[in-house]
Amino acid sequence: MSAETETFSFQAEISQLMSLIINTFYSNKEIFLRELISNSSDAIDKIRYQSLTDTSALEAEKDLFVRIIPDRENNILSIRDSGIGMTKADLVNNLGTIAKSGTKAFMEALSSGADISMIGQFGVGFYSAYLVADKVQVITKHNDDEQYIWESSAGGSFTITRDEVNPSLGRGTEMRLFLKEDQLEYLEERKIKDIVKTHSEFISYPIQLVVEKEIEKEVSDDEEAEEVKENEEKPKIEEVEDEEDKKEKKKKTIKEKTTDTEELNKTKPLWTRNPDDIKSEEYAQFYKALTNDWEDHLSVKHFSVEGQLEFRAILYIPKRAPFDLFETKKKRNNIKLYVRRVFIMDDCDELIPEWLNFVKGVVDSEDLPLNISREMLQQNKILKVIRKNLVKKCLEMFAEIAEDKENFDKFYEAFAKNLKLGIHEDTQNRQKLADLLRYHSTKSGDELTSLKDYVTRMPEKQKNIYYITGESRAAIENSPFLEGFKKKGVEVLLMTDPIDEYSTTQLKEYDDKKLVCITKEGVEIEEDEEEKAAREAEEKVHEDLCKSVKDILGERVEKVVVSNKLTDSPCVLTTGQFGWSANMERIMKAQALRDNSMSSYMASKKTLELNPSHPIIKNLKEKVTADAGDRTVKDLTTLLFETALLTSGFSLDEPSTFAARIHRMVALGLSIDEDETVADEPAKSAVVEEVVETSKMEEVD
Ligand code: ADP
Ligand code: MG
Repeated sequence: MSAETETFSFQAEISQLMSLIINTFYSNKEIFLRELISNSSDAIDKIRYQSLTDTSALEAEKDLFVRIIPDRENNILSIRDSGIGMTKADLVNNLGTIAKSGTKAFMEALSSGADISMIGQFGVGFYSAYLVADKVQVITKHNDDEQYIWESSAGGSFTITRDEVNPSLGRGTEMRLFLKEDQLEYLEERKIKDIVKTHSEFISYPIQLVVEKEIEKEVSDDEEAEEVKENEEKPKIEEVEDEEDKKEKKKKTIKEKTTDTEELNKTKPLWTRNPDDIKSEEYAQFYKALTNDWEDHLSVKHFSVEGQLEFRAILYIPKRAPFDLFETKKKRNNIKLYVRRVFIMDDCDELIPEWLNFVKGVVDSEDLPLNISREMLQQNKILKVIRKNLVKKCLEMFAEIAEDKENFDKFYEAFAKNLKLGIHEDTQNRQKLADLLRYHSTKSGDELTSLKDYVTRMPEKQKNIYYITGESRAAIENSPFLEGFKKKGVEVLLMTDPIDEYSTTQLKEYDDKKLVCITKEGVEIEEDEEEKAAREAEEKVHEDLCKSVKDILGERVEKVVVSNKLTDSPCVLTTGQFGWSANMERIMKAQALRDNSMSSYMASKKTLELNPSHPIIKNLKEKVTADAGDRTVKDLTTLLFETALLTSGFSLDEPSTFAARIHRMVALGLSIDEDETVADEPAKSAVVEEVVETSKMEEVD
């Protein structure tokens, strides 16, 4: 009695999708195998899950596997699994009659440029079979139903027949793809292996490939023996391979075809295994496969999170920063996202924050839907929780690295910028990240110091953490700003990374100590009563001098004050507390942001701080007291100001005016007549400028 065949119409959109898949020119067809294997893996997941509560579920077929069977005689590629299978109702509902929102969405996505390989994300991966096949049969056996055959050559309809012709599957599904004539390459062993390696390596069930093996059998006689030698991998024939035997072989080898199965994904997904059983070389191998790095990783963290949310992850930190770490336009493929062992995507921005863009690894979620789309990921709550956990684990990993100085030095050299960016961006973890910061300081010598160590070295009366920023260590190590601090033995951190300007401004404090930039105005080194009284006395005494100097410099400075921070230099220029520092001004000028309106707005108001115990200032004071309008006083004051610009880390707007002033000093030092100097051509223009400027200044008075 032959079974009845029922015919069904595909739901309209599915039908449309199928003809689109069949007719669209598309070269990356191989992804069909990934989709079918992923469906098999899902189906096995389901039966395995069922078996957790119902042990009889696995009875019909205890092994869980995916098996690929190429039939080269009939040009059929079969993918068989021992998954849950489908009842007749499942076949009708899942494979064709019920509209899926993804069908339309996928077609729309395609017409606006999406790639066919994204099909799985829209929940219609099954139909990718029609990329390579013109007819598909689905033979399936569910525990609750008979074995059925679903069949369709597209064209708007499919049939379902109770299966009375094929051997029993026990349980599971076999997809038979009747390959198109020009797609026979998918029967090739090499091709299948490559595809599985590329797309399905981390499926957590064995993927078997049925291969044809030629077994050599020795029959006595003849010449063909040499040929056999090529297949040396096969242990079976090794026994007869002694050097001496070779020459004497007089036996004939005949080849016999048999089939065998080879497991293609022998390496079980590493993250699904127990970390205790994993050797460090295995982590290294996996890392290299994942990243194409030629070196081992610096650090690895393998963990799982359970509870209302379940996922496993392995995170790696490389030894080096990639050359293009901060190339912002570049898409990062650092964390591969899996959902229940099925690879979803490797460029999911929501998975890890930008400042951790150097961390590599895999995340395998048990909770996300397999057909999740990019758009869904953006607002996905599960993903947000995963992200939070990843950041937390990264911080743990960094703290662990910090326990080994040598490793940490490497890490810090490569990724300090990221940590500082993290301080800038991640309010919640700011203080934890601050523990990882390292700087040179006026007391650290060649080593770097942590803020923590700095704090332990602070004398009791010191309230703040002091730092100075600048272009290079050499440039700031001898800065006049450091004089007072050096004299009093107060340690100052030396910061030379442009990003320090941003991160310290965000950080603001560490361990309840304020971070204070010593090139900014209003910084007083902690002083006792006596020192304070002395300074206040100095202020009084120098009130007139400060006023006169301010008058001379006009708009160029905001104010002129007496300083307790200087020993060797006569004066220095500080900037406003909330404006740019000199270093920041330099950075901004170097950037394309040289929009003049902006920089004049943000550029800091400068305060000239005078060192009352410096002979130059003392002398200047006397001169001012004698005659506030003295021309040399004006000239020298301007020169002092310009020099202070340089020593304080600013650049000169008009270097030639400055040069002219210096040249005049040089001439004076050489006792050269002013007239004589003017006669000298190159100097002439400068002096003329100088005269012009002096007269301008006089008008201001
Ligand atoms: P998705 O996998 O995203 O659900 P597909 O188009 O790939 O979408 O598959 C459609 C449905 O067909 C699956 O949800 C599943 O119910 C069923 N199916 C496909 N392949 C198999 C299989 N090998 N075993 C059991 N059910 C399957
Ligand atoms: Mg699928």
